[in-house]
Amino acid sequence: MKLKLVCKPYYFIMNESLIGGHVSVAGGIMNAFENGVAIGANFIQIFTGSPRVWKSSIISDEEASQFRAELENGGSGVKGLVTHASYLVNMASTDPELLRKSVEVLSDNARSASKIGARGVVVHLGSHKGAGLSSRMQILREALMRVLDSFDGSCRILLENTAGAGGSIGTTFEELAWVIESLDGDERLGVCLDTQHLFASGVAYATIVEADDVVGRLASTLGIKRLGCIHFNDSKVPLGALKDRHENLGEGFIGAEALGNLVSHPLLRGIPLILETPGRGTGPTTLDVSTAREILRSGIERRATI
Ligand SMILES: [Zn+2]
Ligand SMILES: [Zn+2]
Repeated sequence: MKLKLVCKPYYFIMNESLIGGHVSVAGGIMNAFENGVAIGANFIQIFTGSPRVWKSSIISDEEASQFRAELENGGSGVKGLVTHASYLVNMASTDPELLRKSVEVLSDNARSASKIGARGVVVHLGSHKGAGLSSRMQILREALMRVLDSFDGSCRILLENTAGAGGSIGTTFEELAWVIESLDGDERLGVCLDTQHLFASGVAYATIVEADDVVGRLASTLGIKRLGCIHFNDSKVPLGALKDRHENLGEGFIGAEALGNLVSHPLLRGIPLILETPGRGTGPTTLDVSTAREILRSGIERRATI
């Protein structure tokens, strides 16, 4: 009898769910659609420039309009995307040259994301190198303002929570909220929640009660509306290890049940789940995306039976 009760909402929720992964754009950004479809994704994340080189993106207006047209016609099955900014960015650097380059590359990433119709550009804000966020807040605030002034604002800058290594900024919801408040809650700022970074930062969600507490804190500090996407990753390192090390879903220290408890929270329905898992060495596979769906489905079922 219980099964009947969960069936309808389950099918509805699963059909509405946006699940996918980070895919390659090697050979051109249009290849992202094919690469997404190949792993069973209906939502994707891409880089619009090389993430480890200080170089501007090379997306032409023509490529961008072709990409948007494909996205809008929906024929590929990919319903939306976000982009991921360069890993080199440090928006709180005291080195003027590094800060200038960071603002430049993130502005470029934001312009590219807007141009191709992405919902947001995910960024790691960088590090205060142990000096504490308060001592770098002014630098960070001004750098972000310059980025916000540099593009049309048609997508959001999604600040990603970090695992906590080396004074990385945004390890707690409170820190991310502080950054957003420093910019008067600018609506062009959002957040990306990485499940592995969350766990590595010391936040457990093994049980539904713990998962509910995490989502409750997210809602009260940042607000669910800020949440643009979830990076759905298991962890190669234990709780509180402060390291950014992704593992395939269900094969790491977090485990399928805890991941399911978190992402099945009713307030998170409809938020895109993006895998950044290693797969078999070249990123998420069809199996990983179907595992993600199964983890979400199991979580919804567990919640329906309590
Ligand atoms: Zn990231
Ligand atoms: Zn991530």
